[in-house]
Amino acid sequence: MNIKQTPAISALEVLQNTFGYSAFRDQQAEIIDQAISGENVLVLMPTGGGKSLCYQIPALVRNGVGIVISPLIALMQDQVSALEQLGVRACFLNSTLDFQQVQVIEKALHAGEIDLLYIAPERLIQPRTLNLLSQLQISLFAIDEAHCVSQWGHDFRSDYLSLSLLQEQFPHVPRIALTATADERTKQEIIERLHLHSAKKYVSSFDRPNIQYRISQKENVKKQLVHFIQQNHANECGIVYCLSRKRVESFAEHLTKQGFTALPYHAGLSADLRQTHQNRFLREDNIIIVATIAFGMGIDKPDVRFVAHVDLPKSIEAYYQETGRAGRDGLPSTAWMIYGLQDVVFLSKMMQDSQGSEQFKRSERNKLDAMLGLCEVIGCRRKVLRNYFNEQAPEQCGNCDNCLTPVKTWDASVAAQKALSTVYRSEQRFGAVHLIDILIGSNNQKIKQFNHQNLSTYGIGKALDANTWRSVFRQLVVRGFLTVDVENFGALKLNETSRPILTGQENLQLRQDVAESISNNGKGNAKKAKIAVDPIDMPLWIKLKACRKQLADENNVPAFVVFSDATLLEMLNHHPANKQQMLAISGIGLTKFDRFGQEFLQVLECD
Ligand code: ADP
Ligand code: ZN
Repeated sequence: MNIKQTPAISALEVLQNTFGYSAFRDQQAEIIDQAISGENVLVLMPTGGGKSLCYQIPALVRNGVGIVISPLIALMQDQVSALEQLGVRACFLNSTLDFQQVQVIEKALHAGEIDLLYIAPERLIQPRTLNLLSQLQISLFAIDEAHCVSQWGHDFRSDYLSLSLLQEQFPHVPRIALTATADERTKQEIIERLHLHSAKKYVSSFDRPNIQYRISQKENVKKQLVHFIQQNHANECGIVYCLSRKRVESFAEHLTKQGFTALPYHAGLSADLRQTHQNRFLREDNIIIVATIAFGMGIDKPDVRFVAHVDLPKSIEAYYQETGRAGRDGLPSTAWMIYGLQDVVFLSKMMQDSQGSEQFKRSERNKLDAMLGLCEVIGCRRKVLRNYFNEQAPEQCGNCDNCLTPVKTWDASVAAQKALSTVYRSEQRFGAVHLIDILIGSNNQKIKQFNHQNLSTYGIGKALDANTWRSVFRQLVVRGFLTVDVENFGALKLNETSRPILTGQENLQLRQDVAESISNNGKGNAKKAKIAVDPIDMPLWIKLKACRKQLADENNVPAFVVFSDATLLEMLNHHPANKQQMLAISGIGLTKFDRFGQEFLQVLECD
C-alpha cells in the first residue's frame, strides 16, 4: 500500500520557482501527479522530451530522498552540478569518490539533507548501499535509461537485471522507469524485469520536429562534410559518426586541418583521453566530436546542433537514437547523412560474416532494408521514421530534405539496361567501380588487364557522369534488381528480377540524386536549420555567450548548466531589464537568478 502524502509545495510551484519554466509540457503534469501520489510509472519519451523533470519534481515534492539509478557515471557530476545551480540538494555515490567523501554523503543522507541521490546500478546492489537505503526515507526510485535491462537492446547492462530487487526490498517506494527507446519488445522487457505490470504507462510521440533530416549520395565524403558544416553549422557543436576507428581518426584529422576543433572518440583510445575529449565537448563551445557509436549514450548536452553520419548505420533504431542527440533543447538542428553503394556492400558483408544464427541474420537484414528504404524514399523522411515506430504521420513534415526540395524521378529504363548488360558481359565478377569505368569508357590499368575495352558495352554510358552511374547501381541494388555477392568481394550479380529490366519489358523510374553541394548553392528552397540570430544582434549574442562561458568556468560546470541556448536566445530577443523581467524568461528560476542574473543584466544594460 502506498502512503499518500500531502505535499507542502505544489509541482507547479517547483517548476516555476526552481526550474524557471512557466508550464508543463505534454504529459509531464500527469506523470508527475501520478508519481507524487505514489504510483509506479513507465515513461517512454524521446530524447529532449523532458524526462528528467518527471522524477526530479516528484522527488522534491514528496518527503525523503529520491534515488536516481543511472548507468552513466561519467555524467553524474554534471547532472548533480546542474541541480546544485538550481538550488536543489543533490549528490551522487559512485566509484569516483573516496571513502571520506562517501562518509560525508552518508551523513547528509541520514540527516535528511539530500533531495536527490544519483547512483549506478552496480553500486546500488552492494550490501552496504542497500543497508544504507533501508535506513532512509526514500521518496521514489527513478530508473533512468531503463532500456538497459533489455537483452535485445543495444545498451544492455547486466547490472540492470538486479533492479528487480527494488520491488522485493522496497515494495512501498514508487518506481518510475524512463527511456527514449520506443520499440514494443523493449517496453515489455522493462515492464517484466522492473515489475511494472500495474504501472501507468505514458508513451509520447517520438517525433523530433526541430531536427531537419537530410540524406544524400556519397560523392567526395570529406569535401561534402566540410561543406555541410561550413554552410550550416559553422562555430557550432556537432557529432560526426563513422563506422571504424580508422575513419574516425582520418575525419578528425581532416576537419582539424580545415580549421575546425574536431576531437576523435573511439574504444581504441585510452579511457583518460576519451574522458578528456568528452569533457571538452561538454564544456567548450564549437567542438566537433568525431566518433564511433561508442560515443553518445546519455550525452545530455542540449545544444548539439548537428549529427552527421558519413557511414550508413545498421538500422533505423540506431540511426534515430544517434540523430536524436541533436537539438535536445528544441532549437533547430540537422541530422545529415551521406551514403552510397559501398555502405550497402560493406554492411551486407558484415552481416553475412557475423556469428549469429540464421534467424538473427535475417532480422539484421530486415533492419538494414528498412534503413535503406528511408534513404531511398521519395516522400517525407519523417513519415517513414514515425511509421517505423508505429506512429501516424502526415504526408509532409516540411522539415526534411524531401519535403523542402521535392525529389525528381527520371526514366532510367535504358540506363538500367546498359548497367545490367555490363554486369552480364563482364561475367558478374566486378563491383560498381569497375562497371562504371566500363560504361564511361575509362582507360585504366584494370580495363586493359581484362580486355574490357573490347566489351560491347564499353563506353556506351558516356552520356551520364560517374556520379549518376553510382546512383543507378546503388538503386538497382537497393531495389533488388542486382545482388551483392558478399563471398566475392562485393561483385554485382544478376538475379531473376533483373531480366524484365534487362530485356526492356519493364520500365524503371529512379530517384534523381542531387549532390548536397549543388542543392545548397542552387536557388532551391533548401532551408537551413540554423538558430535565428539576426546579424544586427550578433555582437550582443557573442557577449551573452562569453558571459555564460566565464560563469561556467568560474563554477567549473559546462556552459549549458549556467543557461541553455534557448534561455540565452530568449534573453537576446526580450532584453529583460530587471529581476522581474528576467524571471519571466524560460529557464530562469529564483536560485539561478540569484547566482547569475545580475551579470547578465549588466551585459544587457551595456548593450
Ligand atoms: P530528456 O531527458 O527527455 O532527454 P531533458 O529532461 O534533458 O530531456 O529535457 C530537455 C530540455 O527541455 C532540458 O533543457 C529541460 O530543461 C527542458 N524542459 C523540460 N521540461 C520543460 C518545460 N516544461 N518547459 C520548458 N523546458 C523544459
Ligand atoms: Zn518531410
